Amino acid sequence: MNMPELDGEVLDGVQHKYRETVLFFPAQGQTCHSYCTFCFRWAQFVGDKDLKMASTEAEKLHGYLQEHTEVTDLLVTGGDPMVMKTKHLVQYLEPLLEPEFDHIQTIRIGTKALTFWPYRFVTDKDAEELIDLFAKLVDGGKHVAIMAHYNHWQEITTDIAEEAIRRIRATGAEIRAQGPLIKHVNDDADAWAKLWKKEVQLGIIPYYMFVERDTGAKNYFEVPLVEAFHIYREAMKKVSGLARTARGPSMSAGPGKVEIQGIAEIKGEKVFVLRFLQGRNPDWVQRPFFAKYSETATWLHELEPAFGEEKFFFEDEFEQMKKGKS
Ligand code: SF4
Repeated sequence: MNMPELDGEVLDGVQHKYRETVLFFPAQGQTCHSYCTFCFRWAQFVGDKDLKMASTEAEKLHGYLQEHTEVTDLLVTGGDPMVMKTKHLVQYLEPLLEPEFDHIQTIRIGTKALTFWPYRFVTDKDAEELIDLFAKLVDGGKHVAIMAHYNHWQEITTDIAEEAIRRIRATGAEIRAQGPLIKHVNDDADAWAKLWKKEVQLGIIPYYMFVERDTGAKNYFEVPLVEAFHIYREAMKKVSGLARTARGPSMSAGPGKVEIQGIAEIKGEKVFVLRFLQGRNPDWVQRPFFAKYSETATWLHELEPAFGEEKFFFEDEFEQMKKGKS
């Protein structure tokens, strides 16, 4: 549903799901420093060309962005774009400093390198050029955000990880932290509270706690939504205001990013209070809606509307959107 077109041709390796954000999957970044067994991007790694999203075509990306002035954010993602040589990143990103891309305010780069390979930012052969690129983008007026994937506070305890963080922040780029809640790994409020505190101490902005996605080896790693909410809430209670920027637990589902805001009893019915943090229709954003309480549901499609409603408010429109793209 998210594949955009340029001059009547589908653009490989680009996704445009939300109005203001375009995702770019550079071909050189469609592998990882390590393969997490809970990865939702498994299709990028299994060697099936029909499933993989990848692009080497900087001109097409730039052409699309030039035409779509409603786009403010470019997210470079993978795999892990930080497995790429700096020269490739330069080719994709530096042209965005030209005036025709003034509408692109933010460049985000999703990565796990800050924990799996912090040397990327410190001692790799082209680490200096990489740091220079971030500084140049920032100096040129872009907000550069490194979207760092952290699952556990132990990932930020090494000197080299801290040094990588310091070097990135010295360029003026921000680091925002996000990661999934995973059974057997971090299904523990204390672990999240310690992670968020450590992040704040190092100048990282806690951004998201994600619900384990409905892809890949979900069964082993899944945590029921009710438990996810309790872990989130307990962790929030243990941290100061600066760490309460972490949103969640959030499901990156077909219609959008849906956050569990709470569990409430309304007119005698126990319900989940939900809201869209991001929606295929921007008008869905921040609109509260309600699902029947469930002890076992682990994803949006396992939830039922509360108060005897047949459908959630967005369902008909979402079906229409899907038909429009099929
Ligand atoms: S770091 Fe991210 S993209 Fe890479 S294997 Fe792990 S979950 Fe997947």
